[in-house]
Amino acid sequence: MSEQLILEPTPLNAVDRCDRCGAQAYVRATLLNGGELLFCAHHAKQYAEGLKPVVAAIQDESAKLSVSSTASAQDE
Ligand SMILES: [Zn+2]
Repeated sequence: MSEQLILEPTPLNAVDRCDRCGAQAYVRATLLNGGELLFCAHHAKQYAEGLKPVVAAIQDESAKLSVSSTASAQDE
Protein backbone atom coordinates (compact mmCIF):
# COMPACT_ATOMS: atom_id res chain seq x y z
CA MET A 1 0.00 0.00 0.00
CA SER A 2 1.04 3.64 0.07
CA GLU A 3 2.68 5.42 2.95
CA GLN A 4 0.69 5.79 6.09
CA LEU A 5 0.99 8.21 8.94
CA ILE A 6 -0.35 5.87 11.55
CA LEU A 7 2.13 4.01 13.66
CA GLU A 8 2.07 0.84 11.69
CA PRO A 9 4.99 -1.27 12.83
CA THR A 10 7.52 -1.88 10.12
CA PRO A 11 7.86 -5.58 9.45
CA LEU A 12 11.17 -7.00 10.45
CA ASN A 13 13.25 -8.31 7.61
CA ALA A 14 16.60 -9.85 6.83
CA VAL A 15 18.55 -6.65 7.45
CA ASP A 16 17.27 -6.39 11.00
CA ARG A 17 19.81 -8.03 13.26
CA CYS A 18 19.76 -9.15 16.85
CA ASP A 19 21.51 -6.58 19.04
CA ARG A 20 23.15 -9.34 20.99
CA CYS A 21 24.36 -11.95 18.52
CA GLY A 22 23.84 -10.50 15.05
CA ALA A 23 21.43 -13.18 13.92
CA GLN A 24 18.34 -12.18 12.01
CA ALA A 25 15.97 -10.38 14.32
CA TYR A 26 12.41 -11.55 14.77
CA VAL A 27 11.41 -9.47 17.75
CA ARG A 28 11.45 -5.69 18.09
CA ALA A 29 11.17 -4.25 21.56
CA THR A 30 10.12 -0.60 21.72
CA LEU A 31 11.34 0.92 24.94
CA LEU A 32 9.53 3.42 27.13
CA ASN A 33 12.30 5.93 26.45
CA GLY A 34 11.68 5.68 22.72
CA GLY A 35 14.59 3.40 22.02
CA GLU A 36 14.39 0.20 20.13
CA LEU A 37 16.00 -3.18 20.55
CA LEU A 38 16.07 -6.05 18.10
CA PHE A 39 16.38 -9.65 19.14
CA CYS A 40 16.52 -13.01 17.52
CA ALA A 41 13.98 -15.50 18.84
CA HIS A 42 16.56 -16.93 21.19
CA HIS A 43 17.56 -13.65 22.81
CA ALA A 44 14.00 -12.35 22.84
CA LYS A 45 13.16 -15.19 25.18
CA GLN A 46 16.30 -14.66 27.19
CA TYR A 47 15.71 -10.95 27.76
CA ALA A 48 11.91 -10.87 27.84
CA GLU A 49 11.62 -10.93 31.62
CA GLY A 50 14.33 -8.38 32.26
CA LEU A 51 13.00 -5.97 29.68
CA LYS A 52 9.41 -6.00 30.83
CA PRO A 53 9.76 -2.95 33.11
CA VAL A 54 11.21 -0.78 30.34
CA VAL A 55 9.42 -2.07 27.26
CA ALA A 56 6.45 -0.21 25.84
CA ALA A 57 5.65 -2.68 23.07
CA ILE A 58 6.87 -5.95 21.69
CA GLN A 59 6.60 -6.79 18.04
CA ASP A 60 7.08 -10.52 17.82
CA GLU A 61 7.48 -11.95 14.36
CA SER A 62 9.13 -15.14 15.45
CA ALA A 63 6.20 -16.98 13.86
CA LYS A 64 7.92 -16.20 10.58
CA LEU A 65 10.60 -18.65 11.59
CA SER A 66 8.37 -21.60 10.89
CA VAL A 67 6.50 -19.93 8.06
CA SER A 68 9.52 -19.02 5.97
CA SER A 69 11.08 -22.45 6.19
CA THR A 70 7.92 -24.12 4.97
CA ALA A 71 6.87 -21.44 2.53
CA SER A 72 7.12 -23.76 -0.42
CA ALA A 73 5.51 -26.66 1.38
CA GLN A 74 1.95 -27.51 0.52
CA ASP A 75 0.40 -28.32 3.85
CA GLU A 76 2.03 -29.54 6.99
ZN1 LIG B 1 20.43 -13.11 19.34
